[in-house]
Amino acid sequence: MLTEDSPLSKLVKKNEAEQLARTKGLLSVADLFEFVPRRYVRPGQLTDLSSLHVGEDVLVVAEVKKATSRAMRNRRGKMLTVVIGDDLGHELDVTFFSAYGHEGKLQPGVRGFFVGQIGAYGHRLQLTHPEYELFDDDAQGEAAVEWYRTHRVPVYSTTGKMNSLRLRKLVQTALDTVDRIREPVPDDVRAARGLVDRAVALELVHRPAVDDQPARGLDRLKYDEAFVLQTILAQRRKAAESELATPRPPRPGGLLAAFDARLPFELTTGQREIGEVLAAELASDRPMHRLLQGEVGSGKTVVALRAMLAAIDAGGQAALLAPTEVLAAQHHRSITAMLGDLAQGGMLGGSEFGTTVALLTGSQNAGTRRRSLLDAASGEAGIVVGTHALIQKHVQFADLALVVVDEQHRFGVEQRDALREKGIRPPHVLVMTATPIPRTVAMTVFGDMETSTLRELPRGRSPITTHVVDADKPGWVDRTWQRVAEEVAKGHQAYVVCPRIGDVDDETALASGGATSSRDTSDEDAGWDAHWEGDDGDAEEDAPARELTGVYAMLSTLRANPALDGLRIGVLHGRLDPDAKDATMRAFSDGEIDVLVATTVIEVGVDVPNASVMVVVDADRFGISQLHQLRGRVGRGAVPGLCLLMTQGAGERAAERLDQVAATTDGFELARADLLLRREGDVLGARQSGRGNSVRHLRLGRLEDEQIIADAREDAFALVDADPGLREHPALAAAVAMRLDEEQAVWLERG
Ligand code: ADP
Ligand code: MG
Repeated sequence: MLTEDSPLSKLVKKNEAEQLARTKGLLSVADLFEFVPRRYVRPGQLTDLSSLHVGEDVLVVAEVKKATSRAMRNRRGKMLTVVIGDDLGHELDVTFFSAYGHEGKLQPGVRGFFVGQIGAYGHRLQLTHPEYELFDDDAQGEAAVEWYRTHRVPVYSTTGKMNSLRLRKLVQTALDTVDRIREPVPDDVRAARGLVDRAVALELVHRPAVDDQPARGLDRLKYDEAFVLQTILAQRRKAAESELATPRPPRPGGLLAAFDARLPFELTTGQREIGEVLAAELASDRPMHRLLQGEVGSGKTVVALRAMLAAIDAGGQAALLAPTEVLAAQHHRSITAMLGDLAQGGMLGGSEFGTTVALLTGSQNAGTRRRSLLDAASGEAGIVVGTHALIQKHVQFADLALVVVDEQHRFGVEQRDALREKGIRPPHVLVMTATPIPRTVAMTVFGDMETSTLRELPRGRSPITTHVVDADKPGWVDRTWQRVAEEVAKGHQAYVVCPRIGDVDDETALASGGATSSRDTSDEDAGWDAHWEGDDGDAEEDAPARELTGVYAMLSTLRANPALDGLRIGVLHGRLDPDAKDATMRAFSDGEIDVLVATTVIEVGVDVPNASVMVVVDADRFGISQLHQLRGRVGRGAVPGLCLLMTQGAGERAAERLDQVAATTDGFELARADLLLRREGDVLGARQSGRGNSVRHLRLGRLEDEQIIADAREDAFALVDADPGLREHPALAAAVAMRLDEEQAVWLERG
């Protein structure tokens, strides 16, 4: 008996099953059901060959007049061109880019019908890869044609030798054979949301009659996807709620109070309110699990630090997890600075409440590292700042109360879990992210966490102006560097961001007129390429053939520019050794470097309020969110920020991205634009979020789908609240198990 759980090998031959698994990731019958058509052809009636228009869905009955096949220039295999015609002498071209399987059948003289959408090649109209069936006598043809007249024809993305027709027949056989279609959504929910039955939805999607609306079916599949995901999240949340944490109640007159008294500014309303929420959650015996989001510079770090101090006041320790060494070092420095004498616990001259702040990174020398490990284990260090080195087994805490994760996007859930396990009881967790997270993503990727958002920027923050600079216009480029010089003359500092490091040799090579090396030395931290181009074929259309500017090449360009004569220029990128990185960052912070030429290592968290201008070179190579993130490095003090996005010969899509970034500083708007452009899988994929969940039907950038997710979330959380084990909902439990299996498989595959 065929069920939704049956492997596809029950339905098709082994080689076809293998192909579906390999190229489309379809393993089970349920997977096949979720494999929705790319579009529909809706001929409705027989079309006359004498009146065809481009874009029209047609169903024609015709005879093959001529068939020619030829080898293709750029690809393996043969291409087949067939001319079909009617009795009145009207003709139409039919093209197959793979002749395989068609060449033998489409011989001159055979009759059949052809279904597809009319396209054009040059001046001639044509059908490309139409569905067709051949018949010997007209009666047989009439019966088949009848089906096409009464249905919309789903067109599936083809794979190798399996064309759309084959896939359609497969899905339909499955629909007809599967005993009972699973219904994971309870009747009352379906009724309340006006959702069609799942069995009906599958018919609508895969076998719609001419008058049907497949979109209604797809909406149901979207809802299901959201519903299952949200059920998983609701269960996770339920499980977390049953965990017991050590309560960390506030201590009046403690370290936090002393810190607040020393703060040189007033907290914003948002900072204060969120601070109260965090204090209450720390004091409870349920582990906190909260996402703190806020624009770059909105003051998240201060909020997190106050929570850490509260944890210390209650006798515990806090760990701060940063995505890079540069950031860990900077957090360590700025936290130590903010704490002042409060960070000199145990030292002469330290405050009576003092604590110490330890730094732990992978590349520290053995002595420093041992000292930090000891301080963490003994409890001497109230705060331990570090990179992923913090997660390693031998790192121990005396009593870990709170884990703060900076920039979740770069940290996996497993890593977070590893840190949680270091507490005696599960510690409280606070995740900070400066990348504004649209509600859809907040509800899915971070759906098992509570969210707090810092909406206002601290007073005195200056606006950032952004312009796109066309690097093909020498006057504009000159003006850009002049602006940098002017800012420095006013006592400010500048960033110049490049997409790659390049060779150290580039500096001398260029200076002496030599060519740049073409060796691939792209920075591990350079984002756009790593995040996007990797497996998004579409992105390539924008990719310029030109070599990207490296940090060292830029350095020599700037040194040779008379406008910048006498300026102190430094270099920062991911491959410098940690001490050098640290020294450079420190020098820039202290104003000893005027212009910092860097890769995207400075993307997050770097905080030098005196920096007023940023030039992003080859800006078209960066993503929307990344540019927004980058420019947040300027305009952090009293001086207005200026961001110049330099680009040369950018494609249309890249140019559009840059214009969007220049047009608004609203991070949420940009994050949404970013989502719309990005492949969904990347949004939820492990690379970004550390989770295996990706979405199939939902489009996270779309408002309509946001509503679907919100509805499903409400329904799923209510359901799990009443029935945490899904005992009353076996079909849902099965769908959840299947989804989790999939995630597991994804993780295993990644190793
Ligand atoms: P984020 O981590 O959200 O990017 P930070 O916490 O690093 O922001 O704060 C950015 C800068 O603003 C820091 O120099 C910080 O000292 C300062 N700052 C934070 N809160 C306030 C406030 N309420 N008023 C004035 N300055 C603030
Ligand atoms: Mg910060």
